[in-house]
Order: sequence, then structure tokens, then C-alpha cells
Amino acid sequence: MGYHRTSSRLGTLPRAFDLLARVGRILMLQFRRLRRSGRNGRRIKLLLKIALPLLVLYLIDLPIHLYRTRVARPHQDLDQPFATGCLDPSVTAAQPRENATFVMLARNSELEGAKATVANIERQFNRWFHYPIMFLNDAPWSEEFKNVLSRAVSNGTEVRFEVIEKGKWGFPEGMNEKEKAKARLQMKKQGERGVGYGDMESYHHMCRFYSGEFYNLEALRPYKWYWRLEPSVRYSCALTYDPFVEMARHNKVYGWTIALWEVGDTCPSLFKTTDDYRIEKGIPRTPTWNALFQVMWFPAPVRWFLGLFRVREHDNSGNKWNMCHYWSNFEIANLDFFRGREYQDYFRYLDSKGGFYSERWGDAPVHTLAVHMLLPPEKIHHFSDIGYEHDTLWQCPGNAPMDQQLLGNKALRDMGKMTLPSEGGTGCRCKCQENKRRRNINSHCTSELTRPVAFHRPSWWERHNGVYHYAVNNPNNPRN
Ligand code: GDP
Ligand code: MN
Repeated sequence: MGYHRTSSRLGTLPRAFDLLARVGRILMLQFRRLRRSGRNGRRIKLLLKIALPLLVLYLIDLPIHLYRTRVARPHQDLDQPFATGCLDPSVTAAQPRENATFVMLARNSELEGAKATVANIERQFNRWFHYPIMFLNDAPWSEEFKNVLSRAVSNGTEVRFEVIEKGKWGFPEGMNEKEKAKARLQMKKQGERGVGYGDMESYHHMCRFYSGEFYNLEALRPYKWYWRLEPSVRYSCALTYDPFVEMARHNKVYGWTIALWEVGDTCPSLFKTTDDYRIEKGIPRTPTWNALFQVMWFPAPVRWFLGLFRVREHDNSGNKWNMCHYWSNFEIANLDFFRGREYQDYFRYLDSKGGFYSERWGDAPVHTLAVHMLLPPEKIHHFSDIGYEHDTLWQCPGNAPMDQQLLGNKALRDMGKMTLPSEGGTGCRCKCQENKRRRNINSHCTSELTRPVAFHRPSWWERHNGVYHYAVNNPNNPRN
């Protein structure tokens, strides 16, 4: 899981022009100097003999490279919000449910945060739909946690307190004591280098668990869908339709709210390792996969060099990962995909490379890379209509027009004050905070990762100015 980093918002194109202009200026300067020095004839000829063919090669190579790494644009938008404004919960909740559950991994010490999340999700959604909530822990639950959380849900919501079974939490089975000692040393070093949570063994275990073993839990076997919760998250809009039913109806597999930059220090070799796996299995590069690239304008030999020498965050052809990933503390997804052969095989491959400990691979980038390697774009859904906050990051959609807010609706009568609707808004009774916190919507990574499904794409100029067609406006600050 990573954090937003500030960065120049120049897109690839202006950056490339900038670079070309600079190279041009340097060449011009050299040329003039040569002419002034009087020894022009032979040297200029020699220069032209070497430089011109190289330039021609580059001009042939570049378009081919850009073509091979392009993200094909669909003929229409392939992913839209499931609803606009509020629907009547007494109608939508009268439909049959999907086979789904909430899941929250937590510690006994996180009682207050867990309680807040549960109270919030019950109020915004689950008091109408009553999906079960499953709590997961690597240690036995305290009586207090069980008592308090059982009382935090509305009548009709079932809660379950599960302890993760042996072998699914901690170092991979089959790792011997010597290897564990080595892993501990590597984690200690990560801590010294300042990698976030780098020296916290339990955090590494958590990331490994959520990356793969989670999906094999006995307790999840009966279910087809999960919605991941965490202590201290906040949903800021009412959700008046059943997202599981809509995911199933629209043939979606993975649903997300926030996309952001991963911190490179946590997973320098993850992209390369994933690309190794992709090549080994003969999985073709698709627009979804290519959406992970930050396309480089380097000439081919430089790219080969980057790939060959395993330069961090690059793949085997020297393409750089744009570091974008979905923030996995929110997920609504299909369990069959993640417990299926393809994904589990990928997870075992990663596990065998040791990066959950020798580096600090997070479950968020692991899920993202797998989803973008294995799924066609239309199976990934951005819940742009869900208001979601965790830590310092948030997404808060603009509200749909007043006539779609069902002001007289009985089920929604106690929703309280809402933010004023905004043009193009899709939200239902959203309450957006002041623009104090970082926002997802209109962000760089949202726009990068949604390229395969987006017919309307922001131009580099619009991106430079913070305008994104795909995103839903936020009334507090339409620009970001
Ligand atoms: P962050 O969001 O990346 O800062 O990580 P968190 O500290 O929020 O952890 C992510 C989730 O894993 C939360 O739901 C935590 O409650 C849970 N978690 C992390 N470490 C442990 C652990 O050692 N034991 C248990 N039971 N849960 C954990
Ligand atoms: Mn968290």
C-alpha cells in the first residue's frame, strides 16, 4: 500500500518535447562551435556519417516502440457507474442477494476503529442489505471485541469471528529456520533504509496473507464475492444499490475506488518478476497490461540495457511501470478469480521469489499487476460513485442532481445534510469534507489505469490542467 507522492504533472508528450528541444539545443551549440573553430569540414562530415544513421534508426524505432506499448482506445466507454443518484433501498434490497460477505482483518487492539467502520457501513449501506460481516485475526478474538462488534451491526446482519487457520499466516510453509533468519535480517535492513513498515514482520505477513492465502481460507469457501473493510475507514455517500448484484450483472471481477502511486522502495523487483512470470506462461501483452507502462522515449539500446540489468521498476523490455495501483483496503471482487488456478499460480510464483520478505511487496500492487495481466479491461470496475476515505486519501463523488436524491424517501430520511449537487455528479447523499485531504478523483493514476476502458481520454493539456473526463466532479474543487 503506498502513498501519493507529489510529482511534476507534465505528461509524456510535453516531457518528450522538452527533452528533444534540449538535445536539439546542445547539438546546435556543438555544431556552431565546430564551425567557428575552422576545422569544420572533416569533423562535420564524420559527425553526420555517424549521427544521421543513428537518428534515422531512432526515428524508425520510436514509432514501433510507441505502437507496441500503446493502450488501444475502445469504441465506447467500457465502464460506467452502476447508478446515478439514489435508488429506493426498499426496492433494490427486495431483490435476491449475491453470495457475498464483508471481510475485515483486524487486531483486538483495533476495536474502536473496527467499530467505527462497521457503524458507518451499516448506516450507509448494510442496514438495508444485511450482508454478513466476517472478522479475521491471526490471534484469538477477545470477548470484548466480539461483544462490542456484535452490537455494532443492525438487526439482521450476521457477524462471524474467525481465527486464520494454521499455515495461512506467517512465513510460507516449507521455509526453514535459516531462511527465516535471513528474511528477518533483510527486513531489518529495510527498516534501516526507511522502507515503510519495512522492519515490521507482522506487516510483511499481512501483505503476503492478503496477496494469496486469504483466498484459500475455509471460512470464505462458501462465498463468491467479498467486500474488504478495514478499521477506521469511512464511506461518505449512501450506497442504495447492491454492488455485488451489479458486479455479477455486468460481468465484473474486480472493483476499486482509489488508485495511486506505489512507493518504489517497497517493491523494486515486483514488476520485473511479474513480467518474468508473464513471459514464462506465454501470457500476451494486452491494453490492460500496457496501461501499467510509463512509456519511455529512450532508444532501443537504452531500453535493452534497462531490461537486461534488471533496473528497478522496469520490465524485461525496459519499459517502466508507472507505479500505479489500486488501493486494496477497499475491494469488491470475485473470489473465484483469486482462488482460481491462474491467480494462485502467480501468487505461488511470487512467493517462491521471496519478495514478500526480501522486499516489502504489498497486496495492493500484487492484486493490481495480476488483474492487469490476467483480465480484459471491461472486467475491472471503478466505483467512482462510492465515497471512501482512509488515512489521508479519499474519493468523494459529486452528488447527482436534486431530483435524483429521492428527498422524500423513507429509508433515506435520516441521512442528514448533503453536499450540493454538481454537474456530472453521480453520488447519492454524499457528504464531502473540505478539500483538506488528498483526493483520488482527477488523479494521475485513475486516468492512467482507466485508459483501456475510457473512450473519452483527457489530452495531455487537460491532464496538465487537472481536467479528467472520466472522473466525477467534486463540488469542492473541480480542479485538483
Ligand atoms: P496500512 O493501511 O497499509 O497502513 O496498514 P494497516 O495497519 O491499516 O493494516 C492493514 C489491515 O491489516 C488492517 O485491517 C489491519 O487491521 C490488518 N493488520 C495488519 N497487521 C495485522 C496483524 O499483525 N494482525 C492482524 N490480525 N491484523 C493486521
Ligand atoms: Mn489501513
